[in-house]
Amino acid sequence: RAKMDGGSTFCFFDTRMDEQLKQRQLLERDLRKAMAQDLLEPYYQPVFDLKNSQLQGFEALLRWRHQREGMVSSQEFMPVAEDAGLIQALGDWVLKQACMAARDWPEEMSVSVNISAQQLKPDTFSQTVLEALQESGLEPERLEIELTAKTVQQDPPKVRAMMHDLKHIGVSLVLDDFGNGNACLTILRDFPFDKVKIARACVGTLPGSDANKALIQSVVGMSGSLGVRVAVVGIEDDVQLSTVQSLGCQFGQGFLLGHPLSRHAAGRLLVGLPDKAVGS
Ligand code: C2E
Ligand code: MG
Ligand code: MG
Repeated sequence: RAKMDGGSTFCFFDTRMDEQLKQRQLLERDLRKAMAQDLLEPYYQPVFDLKNSQLQGFEALLRWRHQREGMVSSQEFMPVAEDAGLIQALGDWVLKQACMAARDWPEEMSVSVNISAQQLKPDTFSQTVLEALQESGLEPERLEIELTAKTVQQDPPKVRAMMHDLKHIGVSLVLDDFGNGNACLTILRDFPFDKVKIARACVGTLPGSDANKALIQSVVGMSGSLGVRVAVVGIEDDVQLSTVQSLGCQFGQGFLLGHPLSRHAAGRLLVGLPDKAVGS
């Protein structure tokens, strides 16, 4: 419903879009303020080895401690952080925080960090990773870098070169959110990933969806022959857990196994090791 403005110019926004735009501007303003006030912090979701029920590590997930809304999940503000160009500084900061947190964990624990396309734009990204490792003293083998297919496809030659630099440093590379867009399995053939994470959208429909079962089966099959490990996100009940286990997925995370925790709470969970078993 485009409105005429003074009879000469069109306003391209209808009132609903206008409202959404205002909401977004408010969110962006709040987010900038939150960054300045240190109200953002990474949380850590436990990741288990589903073969032996052992805790394998944690995925760092950014949270916003909002005055009115409580803890706000990344999915609520990540698009705004990306559009506003805030994600680069924020993401690099999360990387450092996560490395420092993991340095205090037992040495078999890894930490996974999500990296957005904007963070890969400067040629210095591998230098940023190296600095995070050096400043924290974390062994490179304990750091996993998660990239989505969309990020990789934005500039394949450049990202591939970057990935080789990162492998040279010794960190692991994870293809994140697989099965959630239109990425195909050839991406595992064409880029040096060590692990693939199957999206919550595929796992959440189990055990009912034969199509998603077939999809997971082909990811497991192809990954097996390429030497790529398979993880799943979003295990919410026992049936989903046993389904992904029987399909051969080695690693898993989800609300059934553990919610994202503050750094402090993650540390407490680790003190209780090794009595935390999958599904308990
Ligand atoms: P992701 O990397 O796919 O992370 C998994 C998301 O699924 C997280 O949402 C997590 O809280 C949620 N999740 C895990 N298990 C379950 C479950 O059993 N049920 C349900 N309903 N949800 C589950 P979150 O924290 O909102 O993060 C959303 C996305 O934002 C992430 O997706 C990631 O792409 C991005 N993100 C989060 N933190 C960062 C960060 O520090 N830097 C960058 N660049 N991106 C981040
Ligand atoms: Mg992730
Ligand atoms: Mg996801």
